[in-house]
Amino acid sequence: MSFVEIQRLRKNFGPVVALDGIDLTVERGSRTVVVGPSGCGKTTLLRLIAGFEVADAGRIVIGGDTLADGVSAMPAHKRNIGIVAQDGCLFPHLTVAGNIVFGMTEEPSARQRRAAELMEMVGLERSMLVRRPDELSGGQQQRVALARALARKPRLMLLDEPFSALDTGLRAQTRKAIGNVLKEEGIATLLVTHDQAEALLFADQLAVMRGGILVQSGRPRDVYSRPIDAATAAFLGEAIVLPAEIADGYAHCVLGRLPLAASVAPARQVTIMLRPEQISVTEPGERACEREIRGRVVEAGFRGSTSDLRIVLRENENIVLNIEVPSSVDVIAGQEIALRVSGAAHVFS
Ligand code: ATP
Repeated sequence: MSFVEIQRLRKNFGPVVALDGIDLTVERGSRTVVVGPSGCGKTTLLRLIAGFEVADAGRIVIGGDTLADGVSAMPAHKRNIGIVAQDGCLFPHLTVAGNIVFGMTEEPSARQRRAAELMEMVGLERSMLVRRPDELSGGQQQRVALARALARKPRLMLLDEPFSALDTGLRAQTRKAIGNVLKEEGIATLLVTHDQAEALLFADQLAVMRGGILVQSGRPRDVYSRPIDAATAAFLGEAIVLPAEIADGYAHCVLGRLPLAASVAPARQVTIMLRPEQISVTEPGERACEREIRGRVVEAGFRGSTSDLRIVLRENENIVLNIEVPSSVDVIAGQEIALRVSGAAHVFS
């Protein structure tokens, strides 16, 4: 049995089906990221686990304890689950110390010791304990919110878009700091986000939701390279989706004969996917590959270390490839180029 077991969880809001039978497991000490477009049901899932909302059906079991079974649910304050939301939700009238020890029953000196320990754990100066939330930066507030959630030694930590109000640099730094603390403390974590890059970076297990359904879960690398359908592929990054025919154990398509990522029954019309990093521009003088793919650059965007190219294929001008190349590949719009494909094609089932 996994540490967290969510089985056939359903939740309707009037006519809106927010969760349509979710099955999800989370292993002890691991990080699961639930990712999906706005309105797919991510927050509802967290609110049901936290106990802020009651399901219509399904079960939630953590560490062998049944937290919810159908409409009967354990109250939120008995669940021992930590939660950090987008804006931290610190009490504005309390100091940092007051926020962290809020609700703790130990004697004052033990509480102060614990608050100092937690500040160190989340990488904040002890001198900040006397400040109020509005005297902290956004990233510092999120770390205090984490310290407050950790103070209760939760068995599971729920993070609801906790980095989304922070700007790019601070966001990466805060994500790393919070992620490290949770890993070191061995606390199983469920993060929800609509940011696919953040999801891929943070997750041990990635769970992709759409329209109240969990469409796929697995290692980020596996879900990224073997998505279940074109929508999941596109949600996780740029995808090149092409019609192909399977014969002799290869996919035959406009890009030539490509090896398959997994064995597939032969002689079928299928849809395949490649990621743009599998396509590179052949440098002048480089030995031509088995079958050269010719294309024309229609747009070239210089980004510093890399460039974005938009390419149409000579063989079929309806096929457009958006790829990223090292900026040492110095090409301009209108230029004819040769392309090379590496790795295998993923076939949508
Ligand atoms: P976002 O990324 O925008 O926060 P989300 O994936 O977290 O979206 P939810 O907030 O879980 O999505 O909402 C799922 C669906 O349920 C949406 O269609 C939403 O409008 C609806 N919904 C959520 N809460 C309620 C509510 N209290 N009453 C009515 N409908 C609700």
